Amino acid sequence: MSGNIHQVVLASGNHGKLNEMQHLLGGLNIKLLLQKQMGVESVEETGLTFIENAILKARHAAQVTGLPALADDSGLEVDALNGAPGIYSARYAGEEASDSDNNEKLLKALNGIKTGDRTARYHCVLVYVRHAEDPTPIIAMGQWEGFILEEPRGSHGFGYDPLFFVPEEHMTAAELESDHKNKISHRAVAMQQLIQQLQQKLA
Ligand code: IMP
Repeated sequence: MSGNIHQVVLASGNHGKLNEMQHLLGGLNIKLLLQKQMGVESVEETGLTFIENAILKARHAAQVTGLPALADDSGLEVDALNGAPGIYSARYAGEEASDSDNNEKLLKALNGIKTGDRTARYHCVLVYVRHAEDPTPIIAMGQWEGFILEEPRGSHGFGYDPLFFVPEEHMTAAELESDHKNKISHRAVAMQQLIQQLQQKLA
């Protein structure tokens, strides 16, 4: 691997994500820059899959900045709801929905469904493009299996974490310490994959 620092724009407005990803990418000579600071507006997520939306976001950020770009897309898939809320996880209860609005809607949708049928998983897709027209983006994916509880538990995390029960841990994602969640989550798995593939591509 060369000693050069690779500047990469992160197609996200979230400082927390940047810090976590920058930390995990530590050994790769990559410096992540938030797209907002590079003058990139959010792009409309018109895809029907996490992969399409992550590609859209990465290409857009690369197009505007002329830099390589990294984008992520994630969400919750609930089997009893035919995969909903899926790519609409952030806006399940409406464009301006809060986490608790979304959780409330999820509980209503699952009303009467018994524990064994409340299986669900988080997905995370990460896409890295070397430039806006990159025909071979790196696509990394992670999943995290669980069940949707009937009542929220725990106060860490965000989104659907208080309802997302992780059987191996005997607790919800919102009861897990953040550091631990960040080591085992869908995002952690996708990041590990991404790092392996980046190591080959940047070598
Ligand atoms: P985004 O990919 O950052 O836009 O996230 C999509 C949405 O999926 C979030 O707003 C949450 O509703 C949900 N989500 C994704 N990852 C997690 C997680 O780790 N915990 C809880 N909710 C999540």
